[in-house]
Amino acid sequence: MAIKRQVIEDSEIRRQEEICARIFARVAAGGARPLALVDTYGCQQNEADSEKLRGYLAEMGYGFTSDEFEADVIVVNTCAVREHAEMRVLGNVGALNHTKKARPGQIIAVCGCMVQQPHMAEKLKKSYPVVDLVFGPHELWRFPELLERVMTKHKRVFAADKSDGVVAEGIPQRRDGSVKAWLSVMYGCNNFCTYCVVPYVRGRERSRLPEDILAEARQLVEAGYKDITLLGQNVNSYGKDLGGGTDFADLIRLINDIPGEFRIRFMTSHPKDATEKLFRTMAECEKCCRQLHLPVQSGSDRILKRMNRSYDREKYLGLVALARQYMPELVLTTDIIVGFPDETEEDFADTLSLCEAVRFDAMFTFIYSKRVGTPAASMPDPYTRADKQRHFDQLTELSNRISGEKHREYEGRTLRVLIDGETGREGYNLSSRTDGGRLVHLSGDPALIGQFADVTITASNTWALYGEIRNSEFGIRNWENDS
Ligand code: SAH
Ligand code: SF4
Repeated sequence: MAIKRQVIEDSEIRRQEEICARIFARVAAGGARPLALVDTYGCQQNEADSEKLRGYLAEMGYGFTSDEFEADVIVVNTCAVREHAEMRVLGNVGALNHTKKARPGQIIAVCGCMVQQPHMAEKLKKSYPVVDLVFGPHELWRFPELLERVMTKHKRVFAADKSDGVVAEGIPQRRDGSVKAWLSVMYGCNNFCTYCVVPYVRGRERSRLPEDILAEARQLVEAGYKDITLLGQNVNSYGKDLGGGTDFADLIRLINDIPGEFRIRFMTSHPKDATEKLFRTMAECEKCCRQLHLPVQSGSDRILKRMNRSYDREKYLGLVALARQYMPELVLTTDIIVGFPDETEEDFADTLSLCEAVRFDAMFTFIYSKRVGTPAASMPDPYTRADKQRHFDQLTELSNRISGEKHREYEGRTLRVLIDGETGREGYNLSSRTDGGRLVHLSGDPALIGQFADVTITASNTWALYGEIRNSEFGIRNWENDS
């Protein structure tokens, strides 16, 4: 499925930055510093996109707020993967009628995957007059131009590029944190799993050039980021559209070679493209976390076929065994869809037995959600919502039991973690992640955020581990004795 890689010229991005400067002059003339709110739904790719929207907004002179009544510009970055996320977006956008009334002149933009679907763009046009600007994911690079059009023409603007997507480098970014960073390595998806809307709204697979990715990784390390997550819908097919020079495993090795103490993670891996080379590279690269998110979706061969996943249960189990052979300490997580059309009791029993066999460290479970335009939407389904809910509850129970048991195995062990934030809770006031991505709550000095530390795990539950800091880069330090 080779496509022409549509790259946005550097001069186009500079033109967008000039527009940012014009908007800056315009809003600065108003006196007080204008404020923007970017509300993000969905996956990490959307989080990364929102960092670009904030980058542009910061260049336009906007500060940021989380209060919609204070915001001069509101951007809602939407998700289309499940109906529930869309319903939440529509409810919340509808509620913005109140904020706009209270703050005339407020500009409301809705972007992202949901609005790339023609029926949803149409719905916003017809039934949500409060919305001034609608643009799909392929238009994000020209957000300044679209926003300026709304500001100067005082008209509603709708933009949905119907192409297979673009690659745009050099968009300013305003990152959310200072410890963990997202790094997109590719965009889009070619897999067309029959339930999934992503290929329709995110376009075909487009890889960024290795040199652009490496330059961004180097900047992140220099800026002090310690935990870099490489993002793509199926990172294992990285580079195929570039002619196959550097594949994903090669890319991990190149990033691993950047000097400095930091960690590399990635998501998501599609089992059909996961290779022994990937596992070997992960095992050999000391900065690459022993963590693999490998969505299985179902344990039933019949359902996997109907989902168009291109692997069967046996291949999946083989991959897990191979990955664990290379990395015995691997933390393995997965996604599972319950209630795919016509999923029988027997199919579901196969999913349960696969989960028992693999013993995932964590499972992200979803009830199947019908997506307009996907092949699964027209598959007959005799099962009720109650049947699906029953299976979902059963799977959640199993997932919680296994996660709890796996977490208990950590008790008494001393592990290296990266301290990444504050919890806002007394007692265990810091949060941290193990190499495998397990959450560990700690008590300690907030100055330790951004540092690696050795911790002994003292307690656990289904969702998290609890530990005590043994030593950190600051040396041995005990919060209670610190004053
Ligand atoms: N590209 C990633 C996943 C993107 S969507 C991958 O293939 O692994 C994240 C997860 O949402 C999927 O793994 C799947 O479990 C779930 N999902 C996608 N479409 C769905 C739908 N229509 N209903 C329910 N869950 C869905
Ligand atoms: Fe959706 Fe499948 Fe692509 Fe993942 S691989 S984004 S589930 S179509």
